[in-house]
Amino acid sequence: MEQTFFMPVKVIAAEGAIARNAEEFTKLGRRALIVTGKTSAKKCGALDDVTSVLKAAGISYVIYDEITQNPMLSACKKGGDIARQEKVDFIIGIGGGSPLDATKAIAIFAANDMPEEEIFALSWPNHALPYILVGTTAGTGSEVTPYAVLTVDRTGLKRSVGHPQCYANAAISDPRYTDSLPREFTLSTALDALSHSIEGYFASTANGFSDLFAAEAICIIYHTLYPIVYDHRELSPADRDQLYLASLYAGVTIAKTGTSYCHSVGYFLTEDYHIPHGYACAVYLPDYLMRGAAYLPEKAQALFGRLGASAEGLAKLIQDATPAMNLLLSDAQIEALSARWAGNPASLAKAPGNFTVEDAKALVRKLFQ
Ligand code: NAP
Ligand code: ZN
Repeated sequence: MEQTFFMPVKVIAAEGAIARNAEEFTKLGRRALIVTGKTSAKKCGALDDVTSVLKAAGISYVIYDEITQNPMLSACKKGGDIARQEKVDFIIGIGGGSPLDATKAIAIFAANDMPEEEIFALSWPNHALPYILVGTTAGTGSEVTPYAVLTVDRTGLKRSVGHPQCYANAAISDPRYTDSLPREFTLSTALDALSHSIEGYFASTANGFSDLFAAEAICIIYHTLYPIVYDHRELSPADRDQLYLASLYAGVTIAKTGTSYCHSVGYFLTEDYHIPHGYACAVYLPDYLMRGAAYLPEKAQALFGRLGASAEGLAKLIQDATPAMNLLLSDAQIEALSARWAGNPASLAKAPGNFTVEDAKALVRKLFQ
């Protein structure tokens, strides 16, 4: 097995981390663009913490708060134009995966005035502007991945930019920012992190480094979610700390492995039916998990021994945490969707047991017919 590992992001995750790490901002320049969604950056306190540090350091800033869920490519291009017009030195993204991924694209567009879709060419004349990511959800791990997942305006479909310049200069966060995340989004984002770690653990692209992070993330998320799902209790600050840490570990996992079919086959549920990203992946996760257990029994045994639960027990927790989707798809609809899955062959191929587009159709039929 090859053993390569590259994850060059400085990660600081602690209560009060922004105020205590002002130098991470000051060393990047004198003028910043802050990228957020509509309300959460203010609501969770992160925006105030960041602007206090900038004001104290005499760093001027402009705020761009137009990033929606599943960020649009055009909004990223616009953010890049603003960064150039405002002559900023660096960018600060605050939010869940959507504003963080948008920040990565904005940093690239800020340095490269090019047509929107050229970002997918993965070779740009100029290096992206430096940027810091401040996460407010415990899910995507975008803070530590080299990916930006963007919605292409022309097609309405999600497409990833995977590039070393999508690694942030630093990821600084405070798990307390996730306290304001409603229960539904907390579960959905935790399931996203669980998808990253399970998909990564059983992927053909895994190695010793990614396995370490994946197995630890799976254990943390399982043991944290279990009482929350079955005792219907609220999350404590300690639960939030654990889920945030696990989301970073899961992000480090996919930085090496990438994601598999739970993601690529799941995207249509978000694109066409507006199902939150984590739930859209989790619906396929029990199938992926059982596939991993069947095709990689020794690896599965090592995981489940450490977890103290069976594959079936973990699959049941995932099912019980995922809301019913009440979606009925015709054969013609599934056939049309399969063209999208065929466009991402690498994500299917890395699943255990040579998963094909035909397998994807059969799985979607089983779930939605
Ligand atoms: P999100 O789309 O960033 O945010 C979901 C919702 O939660 C928004 O309404 C947001 O409000 C709100 N929110 C965020 N933080 C909050 C807080 N602390 N308190 C209250 N509300 C809060 O959610 P996400 O699940 O983190 O990100 C999903 C995106 O990440 C998808 O586009 C997915 O494809 C992508 N993704 C990226 C990677 C990667 O490696 N880069 C991996 C997996 C997924 P506002 O709109 O007001 O901010
Ligand atoms: Zn994901």
